[in-house]
Amino acid sequence: MLDIKDLKVSYGAVEALKGISLHVDDGEIVSLIGANGAGKTTTLHTITGLVPAQSGSITFNGHDLLATKSGKIVTLGMAHIPEGRHVFTRMTVQENLEMGAFSLKDQSGVGKGLERAFEYFPRLKERRNQLAGTLSGGEQQMVAMGRALMSNPTTILMDEPSMGLSPLLVKDIFSIITMLHAKGITILLVEQNAKMALSIADRAYVLETGRITMEGDANDLLHDEKVRRAYLGA
Ligand code: ATP
Repeated sequence: MLDIKDLKVSYGAVEALKGISLHVDDGEIVSLIGANGAGKTTTLHTITGLVPAQSGSITFNGHDLLATKSGKIVTLGMAHIPEGRHVFTRMTVQENLEMGAFSLKDQSGVGKGLERAFEYFPRLKERRNQLAGTLSGGEQQMVAMGRALMSNPTTILMDEPSMGLSPLLVKDIFSIITMLHAKGITILLVEQNAKMALSIADRAYVLETGRITMEGDANDLLHDEKVRRAYLGA
């Protein structure tokens, strides 16, 4: 279980998170939605130690993440798929995937990880020797997701997986997220595509300029008048 309490984060004078609390239970998909600059990426970056917190707490299965080095967090079973994918463009698909296994003590896990990634993304298997920089945006998102699966995580943080993708590819990516969930992986999903994010989540939080303003059952939020007007273009 991931539990965030009263988390405050500032970049100099900019208060990006003004004391947020949220939790993700084992096996859940929880979506965090909000407009540009609301603090969604900051939340994920703070969980995985890329940005320091000012105050508050983040625990993951009893571990104090604010006292854990970023590189160690993946060994606790948490993977982070960053916004913008960040694939290594001059490396092949397979080499990119292998980078996701760098933290494995037992490198025999690499073969298993590749099998797992290729099971979810058969297209990557076909293209395993292609340079990642020559893949389409959707395929690069698959590489980023496959790379996260290499460490066999129990929990995945996803930052805007649908960004810049065509509607058809967005559907593909969301159906893969649903498959991961069906396999028992816990997911914290940050999305601007609020409709898709609320459609697949169990619960959701709405973040507005550094504060959580609404939370609840994702289906309830999907039908909430305020959410519809602000985030669903209704
Ligand atoms: P988007 O959907 O546009 O990615 P977001 O909800 O993920 O937005 P964040 O990227 O977390 O929002 O940004 C929250 C606030 O913190 C914004 O006001 C942003 O300008 C500011 N911010 C983010 N990163 C930095 C940084 N490295 N230095 C200074 N300010 C930052």
